[in-house]
Amino acid sequence: MLSKVVIANRGEIALRILRACREMGIRTVAIHSSVDRELKHVRLADESVCIGPPPSGQSYLNIPAVISAAEVTDAVAIHPGYGFLSENADFAEQVEKSGFIFIGPRPDTIRLMGDKVSAIAAMKAAGVPCVPGSDGVLTEDMEQNFRIAREIGYPVIIKAAGGGGGRGMRVVHSEAALHNAITLTCNEAGAAFGNDKVYMEKFLENPRHIEFQVLADEHGHAIHLGERDCSMQRRHQKVLEEAPAPGLPRNLRNKIGERCAQACREIGYRGAGTFEFLYENGEFYFIEMNTRVQVEHPVTEMITGIDIVKEQLHIAAGEPLRYQQKDIRFTGHAIECRVNAEDPNNFMPSPGLVNRYHAPGGPGIRVDTHLYSGYRVPPYYDSLIGKLIAHGESRESAIARLSTALDEMVVDGIKTNIPLHQSLLKDASFQKGGTSIHYLEKKLGLM
Ligand code: ADP
Repeated sequence: MLSKVVIANRGEIALRILRACREMGIRTVAIHSSVDRELKHVRLADESVCIGPPPSGQSYLNIPAVISAAEVTDAVAIHPGYGFLSENADFAEQVEKSGFIFIGPRPDTIRLMGDKVSAIAAMKAAGVPCVPGSDGVLTEDMEQNFRIAREIGYPVIIKAAGGGGGRGMRVVHSEAALHNAITLTCNEAGAAFGNDKVYMEKFLENPRHIEFQVLADEHGHAIHLGERDCSMQRRHQKVLEEAPAPGLPRNLRNKIGERCAQACREIGYRGAGTFEFLYENGEFYFIEMNTRVQVEHPVTEMITGIDIVKEQLHIAAGEPLRYQQKDIRFTGHAIECRVNAEDPNNFMPSPGLVNRYHAPGGPGIRVDTHLYSGYRVPPYYDSLIGKLIAHGESRESAIARLSTALDEMVVDGIKTNIPLHQSLLKDASFQKGGTSIHYLEKKLGLM
């Protein structure tokens, strides 16, 4: 097993990784920016190293600083968590070249899947269903672009090949708007992602976002852990996730899940990963793969009983997968609320001092958070301050437990989106299940 791991992240996921390491007897090194000294996992880690000032470009994204921290502490592996450097192929490569284990896929796999155009091509080749689209990068030949759009049929969506975080996308409803949309998206993508390649897809009008969790080892084995429904989104960002997806036929889950596992075997995937799909009228359309642990992984853990972060560590140590597909059982239903430090009405970030924090509890409740009374949420990073997850024998019981837990949770001193979650859980359409990716924005009156 790995002897010592650097946790190259912050907040709730850093604490999540620390807990998994501790359970497995792995020593931990917390790296942090100067404003993050008081983070819970920094206090709990065996060692900690301050790697730079608060802006993430000078700390959590500073590759030489992160690798130096592994060197000076004699660590053997680096866990990148999600966000920050987790999907940076150059980082993974430098980690390996420096003699450390990168807890994730091989650098060339990250590169392949990090470019959405090459990812889609690889998935098509592996028999994974994709959205009808341009089959490659758009060129400056507008006649050809018009032709592609006409063949796909309007509306279409122009997407940045290197895009992420819900940015770098533009919907086009008519030929008159296409030229402009391509130029604008290219320019934005170049500025935001350092890659101005864009491609075109059919814009699906009312899909759900359903994704499949996979685990693969370096010995050619791969399994899937079923799906999550992440259709509750605002600005293409997930707000609430659940597993299993309401109403999804079991045979379809098994079929698409097995396709994903097979694709992993074909591309030599290693580690935990997620295949994201849009789901409309009973059909799945692949949109992208995330080559890391995801924020919403706990809902899958709750219904399968498998600790995904611990499996990442086992896989990184070179062990064969500890489960076969037939070992995977799905029990009950789990729902996660992302708790953000933000104004529930206008979504403005709300950093500051948490005077008082009280965690909810009870049967089936899990709280993944780095909060404690007296913790100050800094203004420099993502506003996610924790995740509240409920498991129940049915979807109804998961909703009831989650509502009770939300009412019990106290975060005093800053604004949070807890009121938004409380109202969502009472929403009749949510309670019915199976709403599309546009539902939340419509409900909020943003569309
Ligand atoms: P990112 O990497 O920025 O998360 P994705 O490709 O995963 O980008 O897309 C994020 C979200 O954007 C999806 O969950 C969906 O809401 C919307 N989206 C992306 N592609 C399409 C499409 N072809 N049709 C409709 N909505 C889409």
